[in-house]
Amino acid sequence: MTDATRPGGPALPQERKLVTAIPGPGSLERLDRKKAFVADGVGTTLPVFVVAAGGGVIVDVDGNSLIDLGSGIAVASVGNAAPGVVSRVQEQVAAFTHTCFMVTPYDGYVDVCEQLAQLTPGDHAKKSALFNSGAEAVENAVKIARVATGKDAVVVFDHAYHGRTNLTMAMTAKNMPYKHGFGPFAGEVYRAPMSYPFRDGLTGEEAAARAIDVIDKQVGAGNLACVVIEPIQGEGGFIVPAPGFLPAISAWCSANDVVFIADEIQSGFCRTGAWFACDDEGVVPDLVTTAKGIAGGLPLAAVTGRADLMDAVHAGGLGGTYGGNPIACAAALGAMAEMREHELDRRAREIEAIMRDRLSALQEQHAVIADLRGRGAMLAIELCRPGTTEPDAARTAAVSAYCHAHGVVTLTCGTWGNVVRFLPPLSISDELLREAFDVVAEAFAATT
Ligand SMILES: *Cc1c(COP(=O)(O)O)cnc(C)c1O
Repeated sequence: MTDATRPGGPALPQERKLVTAIPGPGSLERLDRKKAFVADGVGTTLPVFVVAAGGGVIVDVDGNSLIDLGSGIAVASVGNAAPGVVSRVQEQVAAFTHTCFMVTPYDGYVDVCEQLAQLTPGDHAKKSALFNSGAEAVENAVKIARVATGKDAVVVFDHAYHGRTNLTMAMTAKNMPYKHGFGPFAGEVYRAPMSYPFRDGLTGEEAAARAIDVIDKQVGAGNLACVVIEPIQGEGGFIVPAPGFLPAISAWCSANDVVFIADEIQSGFCRTGAWFACDDEGVVPDLVTTAKGIAGGLPLAAVTGRADLMDAVHAGGLGGTYGGNPIACAAALGAMAEMREHELDRRAREIEAIMRDRLSALQEQHAVIADLRGRGAMLAIELCRPGTTEPDAARTAAVSAYCHAHGVVTLTCGTWGNVVRFLPPLSISDELLREAFDVVAEAFAATT
């Protein structure tokens, strides 16, 4: 199929169009089937069944066209069915689908690792290992740090999200829904206070001193393999640490033989207006975990970092049946080419300008918007009872529900469920983005 005839991708009409209620009759019918055959534990934010997506829209079975401000949780950053991804995937899927890189290797895997070495922060010698999911990348980063340092303990932060496997559940902060009833969890995981400017009012240096004191007194550098941190927290509420916090934590790690691991799974690949969120303050992590935006929607994840650390692990110690699957690697090469070709880091900053403008105007009109934060095409608003820092999860849910009913895909997040986050695909047009924020504005007016 050519670009003009294939069902998804940027050739889809870029419009918000509602022809039924949301969800419509076709989606409702399918929801019954979902109820019958899919485990209830697998939730749904906006229950329309999708038939096509691209540019800045998602089209459902009933013919509704919704504006996408979620990118499938920061995954479809280059846009759904992006031409550069589709063509490479089609070529690869017709050539071969799987050999297992650990059995018989292929170029795509090495190409992705070479690009990761070039694109991730720092110009030192770097190597990578590829996996299927973000959680798997985080687990492997911890494995590498433990072998390289000969130490066990792992430090993570308040509000952190690192995944749903046993070790990464232990590393994730929030109980419901991620951990509740799923213990016992992996040991030797310790939690330090995060820099959260809206709630703690501390400078980056002060917040780092507070965290380092906890780490030093409750764990001890002599036991600590790694500190794992999201440079901008994702699920925890798009919390941006105060300037100076990340550099101070990173410097302390370097001085104490502790591996500094940046979890850039949500913030990476042009999302924050730079290739990686760490770039903003010139922080160079020892290891970086990536996933989500890396492959335009195909499942791929990576640990990238200092060659000496990566090579500390014995042969056969890293891997997995599907890690670095050739189709996922082809998609990643296509996605990274799209990012470079369309300068999507710059595009994320343009998107930020439009969103920030609209959101600060809204903040002036609605006292419930207590904080506006984030970077690039990764912005969020935190909703609190006016004049307080008391979370308003009910209003957050109401605003989001209004957006859904009116054809805009919004996501919420935050430890208290009181944050609306905006993660549009970087392929969205200015017009569509503005229309989406008209709906967000209506949502605040309609829910007072
Ligand atoms: C989504 C996410 C993960 C987990 O990735 P999965 O692919 O869902 O396993 C880990 N860390 C961060 C920061 C994330 O946003």
